[in-house]
This record gives sequence, structure tokens and C-alpha cells, in this order.
Amino acid sequence: MNPTAPLAPGSVIGIIGGGQLGRMTALAAARLGYRCHILTPEPNSPAGQVAERTVVTPYDDGGALESFARAVDVVTFEFENIPVECVRHLARFKPTRPNADVLAVAQDRIEEKTFINELDIATAPWRTIRSVQALDVAARDIGLPAVLKTAQLGYDGKGQVKIAPGDDLAAAWKAMGAEWGILEGFIDLEREISVIVARGLDGAMAAYPAVENVHTRHILDTTTAPARIAPALAERARQYAEAITAALGVVGLLAVEMFVARDGRLLVNEIAPRPHNSGHWTLDACPVSQFEQLVRAITGLPLGTVERHSDAIMTNLIGRDVESWPKLAAEPGACLHLYGKGEAREGRKMGHVTRLFPKGSLAQSGAAKLNP
Ligand code: AMP
Repeated sequence: MNPTAPLAPGSVIGIIGGGQLGRMTALAAARLGYRCHILTPEPNSPAGQVAERTVVTPYDDGGALESFARAVDVVTFEFENIPVECVRHLARFKPTRPNADVLAVAQDRIEEKTFINELDIATAPWRTIRSVQALDVAARDIGLPAVLKTAQLGYDGKGQVKIAPGDDLAAAWKAMGAEWGILEGFIDLEREISVIVARGLDGAMAAYPAVENVHTRHILDTTTAPARIAPALAERARQYAEAITAALGVVGLLAVEMFVARDGRLLVNEIAPRPHNSGHWTLDACPVSQFEQLVRAITGLPLGTVERHSDAIMTNLIGRDVESWPKLAAEPGACLHLYGKGEAREGRKMGHVTRLFPKGSLAQSGAAKLNP
């Protein structure tokens, strides 16, 4: 078999993780004729509900991982907080795209920020912290306010402690609840944006336009596509995202979250080598969604277009927000997506709704006065 030939329809994609990102990837894969197997510790997962097969197993069961890998043609992941060893083990049997090294960088804020800074791309000022003494030195060095973040296993604001001038550093260190972390300068944000880049097996890249994200209590609330920023800033954001994607050698997707500081600086906050919540709008506003791009990239198909036919505002349905589904289902033009999760726990992403607008209309509504 020609190793560079794309996987034929009917081939099987293995997805590690059973959440909504896996669910939407499996739906996109099905549209292109591929089948999906899901590996997750969770029975009745959102992805498992729409896949051909689910293997319910812990991520560290070597035997289960091997038989999962033997039954698929390529492996990807929809979730970052899986052991890197799990991906390395699967890679002994089948290609994993992106690879375990990419995952390792994205999982650890220290490695991530070091990698980004080495590309001459700015982040918020940061220091590695392994003790209260180091925290004290860094707080004086960087200045307060600042944010103490765990180096690993942090998402949606978990493991973060904001430190204001005069706060008790020992209490903040304890509240973070980990053995090491980073202290990051607190940025006066004008807005938060993100860029999602797809990169194929042949190295070709395609980036969706920068979008604007509003977080509430550290969880994404809305994404506006495109971001209402000056074209030159959007272009710089794309260049940063593509430079990181290429340097990491990602095959698949890389979402790059950035801060636009009130003083005009563009700073990379974090990266995620998987489909991203801030790309859900592409399902309804683009002929080829982020999920289809992932499938195309990892199966060796050419990437699709990243053009959009509409501007869009995506709103997450968090926890009990999902109870408005009958109203949303009745709203003309609202594109409703529900993830098949049982219990609407607080902070849990239950679905999202995307509303479309004529292309160009959202940008015009706010761009003129921003970032001249
Ligand atoms: P993170 O888990 O690093 O993505 O942080 C979650 C959210 O917290 C970000 O999207 C920002 O809204 C906010 N945040 C995190 N770090 C900073 C920072 N250094 N300065 C200002 N806001 C921050």
C-alpha cells in the first residue's frame, strides 16, 4: 500500500476520549464514509452514542489499548488530559495524529510557553514556581496582580488562583493545590481571540479566521466569527498560529488562544491540538467544519476550504442553559447542537447554538473603532 495515499472510505478512525468533540468528529467522519471507534473510560459517552464501536477502558490498560489500535487505521484524540503514555503505546501499532510529542507540549504550561517563546512569539510574562519562596521572588519580579496556574491538568480555569497586591502568597500556593506551576502576569485584556489551524500529512496548512471569545467564570460563553479586530492584527494572529503549528509538526488541528492586551500587544495564552470549542461555529457557517478538517488531515485527504459563507455567533449551553432547548429548537435560523449528556451539572457543556449573519455584517458592526 502506498503510505501517502489517503485512507479509503470505510477505514476506521480511533478517537481517544468520548466527549462532544469526539462526537462531532465522528459525525464529520461519517459524512466522508469513515467509521469511528471511541476509547473512553466513560460508558454512554457523547461520542460513543454516534460511533460504530466504543471501548470502555481506563487510559492505562495496555492490553485494551493494543486491541483498540489493532482494529483501527489511524488514531486521534479529542481530549488533552490523557496520559501521553497512552498515545505513545497506541503509536506502536498505528499512526497517531497529532503525535504524542505534540500532546506533551500542550499538556504542560511550562513546556508550552517555552516552546512558544523560543519561536519569538510573546506570551504573558511567566515564571516556573516550585515553592512559596519561588512564588515570592516571581511576584516581585513580574508584579501583581498575577495568576498562579498549575502546570498540568488545568482547563476551564481549574487550578488557577488570582493573586492581588497584599494577598497571602502561602495561601495562594496552597489553594492552587499542585507541586509546581507557573506565575503569569495578569493582562489587562481588550479581548480574547483564537485561531484554528489545520495541517495535513503533506504539511499544507489552512487557518480559519481569528474569532473573538468571551469567557464567563473561565468557561467559554460566546464566540463571534470573525473577530472584530483590524485586519493587520488578524493577520498577525494567523501567522503566530501557523508558525506554532508548523514548528510542532502537527498533523490535525491546533487551536491557538490569544490575548489582545489593552496596550495593543498580541500574546499567546495556550494551545490545544484538537478541535476547539471556539471552532464550533464552523459547523454551520463554513462548507468544511473544523471537525471535517481534522478528519481530512489525519486520513491524508487534502484539506478543505476555510472560507465561510456567513458570519456567526456561537453560544455555549452550560449546565441548565440547556433547558431552553424547546425555545431554541423553535427559533428560526438558530442551529442547535446537543451533546447527548444526561445530567446538566453546573459548568458542564451540554450543547451550543449558532446564529448566522450575512458575511461581513458582524465585522462592520464593530471593527472601525478598534485597533486602528
Ligand atoms: P486558561 O486556562 O489559561 O486558558 O485561562 C482561562 C481564562 O482566564 C482565560 O481565557 C482568560 O479569560 C483568563 N486568564 C487566564 N490567564 C490570564 C492572564 N494572565 N491575564 C488575564 N486573564 C487571564
